[in-house]
Amino acid sequence: MAEPPLTENYHKETATRRHIPAHITFWDETLRDGEQMPGVHFSAEEKLAIAEKLAEVGVEVINAGIPVVSKDEEAMVHRIAHAGIKAHILAAGRTVPGDVEAIIRTGATHAAIFVAASEVHLRYKLRMSQDEVVKATVDSVRRAHEAGLHVAFVTEDTTRAPMDFVEKLYLAALDAGADRLVVSDTVGVMSPITFRWFLREFSARVHPKDWSVHCHNDFGMATANTIAAMEEGVNAPHVCVNGLGERAGNTSFEEVVMSLEILYGIKTGIKTEKLYELSRLVERLSGVPLPPNKALVGYNAFSHEAGIHTHGVLRNSLTYEPLQPEVLGRKRRFILGKHTGRAAIQEKLKESGISPTDDQVARLTELVKTTEEHKGKELRNRMVADYQNEFEQPGLKESEFWTLAGQVGIERPKSP
Ligand code: MN
Repeated sequence: MAEPPLTENYHKETATRRHIPAHITFWDETLRDGEQMPGVHFSAEEKLAIAEKLAEVGVEVINAGIPVVSKDEEAMVHRIAHAGIKAHILAAGRTVPGDVEAIIRTGATHAAIFVAASEVHLRYKLRMSQDEVVKATVDSVRRAHEAGLHVAFVTEDTTRAPMDFVEKLYLAALDAGADRLVVSDTVGVMSPITFRWFLREFSARVHPKDWSVHCHNDFGMATANTIAAMEEGVNAPHVCVNGLGERAGNTSFEEVVMSLEILYGIKTGIKTEKLYELSRLVERLSGVPLPPNKALVGYNAFSHEAGIHTHGVLRNSLTYEPLQPEVLGRKRRFILGKHTGRAAIQEKLKESGISPTDDQVARLTELVKTTEEHKGKELRNRMVADYQNEFEQPGLKESEFWTLAGQVGIERPKSP
């Protein structure tokens, strides 16, 4: 009997329906949208360490931040822009003259100029008419372009905006010198098929040559939507390491890279063997722990406990793993626990050069299972309680707020 094919894969059947560009530019948002995650803030050294690692891994564009946020932020972006990092350093700002001037002062070579596009944002947030938005866009994009910057024009909430206005606004931005166009699914309301439709319409009207999508994960579809967008020809996807970002986060960098590499067989130019290291660095510096079951970079992504799974993986890892952990710079783990089977015990002893009898293996397996089953869960419970306590109120604590308020003469109201 012939060997079964190890890589049978239906993605090949749909390959002709995809228009993924030959060159993909990863645009990382970890230091901007990632830092906007509640309770997250990076020091200049931390931002530099992450930016250097991103460049080393192969990210082409790094959004270093929004300089107009504060004098410190402007200084940080300036420092990153002058640190000799081998990537394009980008600074972001609104379609407001002061924002654009702050971007220019940082010395960043790339700018992202953003404004909202949807009715709800125009009416309630910006309080601007469509014509005023177009004018602010043209003025800001032109100023950044004339200052010699590579300009990306971004709209917030593009996917809830009227298409006619989207068309008018982006054509005006292109005319004013925008080099790259960014479509944002700011509140994560797209699904892959709807997003492909939206982007096809956008493309037919605006004819973007260099374009990005910025997706959010509110319904857990950020990665799927980003891949769908690339199937429509988007070449510069926005990503965040570990899927950090506002609310439910942005598209996760490692998920997009590995989906393209492994599922579609596309060379992304990313050094995938460094992705795990990058993920752990960002986990540590952001203070946002990854769930163990996070795709690809979670602790359990290549761990096996259940007897049937362990047995299969020991025979051939493809039985229960879609890719080799080494591709991400990781190692496979076999966990001994309640669901352990004899194969794992046998393998563990074999690694130590021991050849046990079948009876010894059976008895030891039983002992391992019952020992684990009856172990207390105090450590885990304590860890989860600390985690819940911290993440239910990240940022400034209630008591700290009223202490600070006291410093400007405001007293905490007595509860009735
Ligand atoms: Mn965002």
